[in-house]
Amino acid sequence: MRTLSDLGDLAGKRVLLRCDFNPTIQRLLELGASVLICSHLGRPEGQVNKEFTLAPVAARLGELLGQEVIFASDTIGVQAKEVTNALSLGRVAVLENLRFAEAETSKDAETRMAFAKELAAFADKFVSDGFGVVHRKHSSVYELATLLPSAAGLLIEAEVEVLQQLTRSDQKPYTVVLGGSKVSDKLAVIGSLLPKINNLIVGGGMLFTFLAAKDYEVASSLLESDQIPTVKQYIQQAEELGVRIILPTDIRMASSFSPDAKVEIAQIDALNRTSFGETGIGLDIGPDSEQVFSEVIQESRVCFWNGPMGVFEMEAFASGTRAIAKALSQVEGLNVVGGGDSASAVRALGFAESDFSHISTGGGASLEYLEGKSLPGLEVLK
Ligand code: AMP
Repeated sequence: MRTLSDLGDLAGKRVLLRCDFNPTIQRLLELGASVLICSHLGRPEGQVNKEFTLAPVAARLGELLGQEVIFASDTIGVQAKEVTNALSLGRVAVLENLRFAEAETSKDAETRMAFAKELAAFADKFVSDGFGVVHRKHSSVYELATLLPSAAGLLIEAEVEVLQQLTRSDQKPYTVVLGGSKVSDKLAVIGSLLPKINNLIVGGGMLFTFLAAKDYEVASSLLESDQIPTVKQYIQQAEELGVRIILPTDIRMASSFSPDAKVEIAQIDALNRTSFGETGIGLDIGPDSEQVFSEVIQESRVCFWNGPMGVFEMEAFASGTRAIAKALSQVEGLNVVGGGDSASAVRALGFAESDFSHISTGGGASLEYLEGKSLPGLEVLK
């Protein structure tokens, strides 16, 4: 993969940076470039929606950099052209949210290319650094990189290095912890990781599809019934490979999906026999499971975690996630938090960045990388 040093002398160059707002900005300034930043926020779906404007981001960036950051209130329009033409050496400008333009995420390659050409006209070189979007074939992620001398920024470089370590590591025990709500999103990664790992710990909403695949009743907990056959296949494959799939033995069952719901701890063979009966919802793993999961994690030499163990956004159901984050932080070896909600969880629960080898900024992107998929935004930088 091409990195900043492959871009040659950047002094006096205008660099277009597809950015996640990180140290690459400072590095480019140190290298003598002027920096034009393009990025996205939320899912405005091709419409101008001031709720998702990058104006406050530009203002905050100015405070952090200690210099004025110019903001263009459009992406490839009159304002953007004026701002880029006036962008002098050592200065930073931010374009408005790329996703205000339908072309950015269009399914049509020509539409994306036309948009990318407008962006490319603004700069001499392109640095791609939005790791969270590298699995998307979007105009500013893929087409743009084909039009200018381009390279990965510091964030993408760091993310890829850790992901490579995770795919190549032969350190044992190797444990993967998966949670969160969308089983279907996470199944593919299970298939590609099973041959490499020793333990697969499953928590979060997805654990109920695993329990159902083992014929347990799950009351009104989250369940993706259509995924049960696939889950059964993985359970069998894990047995053949000698990989332990570790499921909770107890669950915090709630009377409703709410922060002040009544809570009872139930063993997994009695989830529909709490006082809430069939209406009970499993919103977190139970204390015994926390302990077993923590022990397995602490003994690991490599551990990758994606997805919270419960509905950590509500304090009553944050305990499992907190326990797993703590155990992960104590791993002697490579301990990686795989982005998205698990990254927000470790920060919300007060853990420090330095407690982990790496906290990824892209949940979807890191899972797809570990699945062995080709990521358009990385391929184009090779
Ligand atoms: P994901 O985006 O798939 O990683 O899912 C993250 C979301 O899963 C978080 O917002 C959690 O609140 C949610 N979650 C975790 N455990 C459960 C559960 N037992 N039931 C419902 N949602 C859950």
